[in-house]
Amino acid sequence: MSRRGIVRAEEAGQWELDGRPVACLLRRSSARRTLAMRVDGQGRVVVNLPLRAPVADVEAFLARHQGWLRDQLRRARAVFVWRVGRGLPFLGGSLGLTLASGTDGVRRDGDRLLVPDLDTASVSVPAWYRAEARVRLGGRLCAICRGISRVEPPWRLSDARTRWGSLSAQGVVSLNWRLVKAGQAEIDYVICHELAHLRQRNHSAAFWREVEALCPGHAPARARLRAMSRHYFEF
Ligand SMILES: [Zn+2]
Repeated sequence: MSRRGIVRAEEAGQWELDGRPVACLLRRSSARRTLAMRVDGQGRVVVNLPLRAPVADVEAFLARHQGWLRDQLRRARAVFVWRVGRGLPFLGGSLGLTLASGTDGVRRDGDRLLVPDLDTASVSVPAWYRAEARVRLGGRLCAICRGISRVEPPWRLSDARTRWGSLSAQGVVSLNWRLVKAGQAEIDYVICHELAHLRQRNHSAAFWREVEALCPGHAPARARLRAMSRHYFEF
């Protein structure tokens, strides 16, 4: 019972759609007169309903909106599910997503990534990755350029959906923030790949010789990155 005298009740249930079980969460409230539903970030159907609405009403409601629900669930399954214990790739290893209510923002603790809640993880965790990427990728670019006695080009973080890096016509290097999920060798390979484009604006044999000169023995790292790309681009 809340202070305003509104009675609430929550129950988890299951429904079936096209022969597949669908997790449901029924949120009852004495303040509600109608039914409403949405699919949350964890692929659950959340139904808000009046306190004493019979379950048959809920089932009829879900059945009436099957088409919409099918569509929403398909979309939800395609997106990354943020759940406790899930391994998040980081620097070639993995961080276990951990709930730490009361913490202020996202924080790394050894091989765990602490988040204050799961509802905002889809925003707060990528933001944490971007901050890490800015420091770590920037640091590697600087170190590699110093190592080969070259002037460090301007660079920016990118959020491209499929590319790891690119070089603009103006000579600005873009590095995908998701690259910080990969190991050091993969990070170095992508940076050297873009640096090589400063001299060879193509993927000719001369370009690959340049990559090899900057990043000797890069082939395994390149293959690893290709093999892991789908995983790294999940979020
Ligand atoms: Zn290229």
